[in-house]
Amino acid sequence: MKKIIPFFIFVIFFFCACATSKKEISIEGIIEESEKGIIGIHYPKTGISSLDKKIESYIFKTKEDFENEYIKFLTLKETAELNIDYEYFEIQNRYCNVSFITFKNAPTIVHEIYEVKTFIYDKKTDQFMTLDEIANLNLDTIKLELIKKYKTCILMDHLENSLSKNSIQKIKFLFTTKSVILYFNPGEIAESSCGIMRYEIPVTNFKIDIEPEDSVKKTFNYHPSTKELSTSKPTIALTFDDGPSKYTKQIIELLNQYDANATFFILGNKVKNYEETLKFLLENGNEIGNHSYNHKKLSRLSKDELQNQIEQTNKVVKETLNYDIKFLRPTYGAISENLRKNTNMEIVLWNVDTTDWKLKNSKTIASKTLHDIKDEKIILMHDIYKSTLEALKIILPELKKQGYQIVTVSELKEIQKIKNETKSK
Ligand code: ZN
Repeated sequence: MKKIIPFFIFVIFFFCACATSKKEISIEGIIEESEKGIIGIHYPKTGISSLDKKIESYIFKTKEDFENEYIKFLTLKETAELNIDYEYFEIQNRYCNVSFITFKNAPTIVHEIYEVKTFIYDKKTDQFMTLDEIANLNLDTIKLELIKKYKTCILMDHLENSLSKNSIQKIKFLFTTKSVILYFNPGEIAESSCGIMRYEIPVTNFKIDIEPEDSVKKTFNYHPSTKELSTSKPTIALTFDDGPSKYTKQIIELLNQYDANATFFILGNKVKNYEETLKFLLENGNEIGNHSYNHKKLSRLSKDELQNQIEQTNKVVKETLNYDIKFLRPTYGAISENLRKNTNMEIVLWNVDTTDWKLKNSKTIASKTLHDIKDEKIILMHDIYKSTLEALKIILPELKKQGYQIVTVSELKEIQKIKNETKSK
């Protein structure tokens, strides 16, 4: 028997190493709010210099153009919005698929502007790839299919131009192990009013080696926290918006040192790229809240768009982490009648704003936060800044010293409920 034990340990270690070996890339977030405009941008930082350069030049050029073309000319109280959402995934641990959907709105824009951009990068050869290098596609068949599918929108001459042999290298696309997905900007092959066109084509004859995907996905078992709560200690709920990010795991490790927990109001578009971080977050007694899918200003959206922003995040969290989100924190703290009417989720704001996103200095964040904190307050922070992580290294030991209990929003509500019940007895 003695001889068998080491073998088992080896197997378990080996297995765990494999299961967690998927390295997370960093998703960068730029969230800015001024009197004139709001900007919400997310993009991957892959660590591959030529790919990151291409991505960053696209992102910063778009942001700069938007500021020069729209924000500069606004008078007060008008607001412009720029939102860039991303998608990032790798095929065979080799081909990086990156796409961006840019949304622009300003009082001077008649119709909201949508734009799509894609990059495919081969890590092995260090090259960007075009559609004709990935798969053998019959352009005539695709044209016919597009005409059939989008009868009322298609502009025939545009379609001919965009899908000719000469222009195939310019076609925007992503690919999976089973298909190629083509993207066309509004006005590119069809009337602008028909929006971005996405067209998926099943592919069996790839030009590159593609192995079928491993479809067995282990489900994550979430266990709610069983932490003992005190109703006599001063208590605060710590909350983080706009994450997860490359700092989130370090923040959780720091919280653990002080027996503290927090609620993380996350963005749905980051869930797939931070799966391991989010599992770690839940395993350590923290809570996930909904902060929209890609940080669009919710109060301005139509009913469908609004529900989409909320539901998409709930859905990806349920599918990836088997976890049901309870709370919603609207982006920019903006609540409209429309928002209240169209969601059943409980809305949670805050009553201490650390303004860490503006201060970006750990000492000033810490002194402001420690000054403003009182029993039963909900604290707003953002887990996307290094200065916030550093500030917590000052804040947490001090709060512990003052006897504070640091909990999630659910736990704070639970404590308040018990306190109210005992008061009314
Ligand atoms: Zn936010």
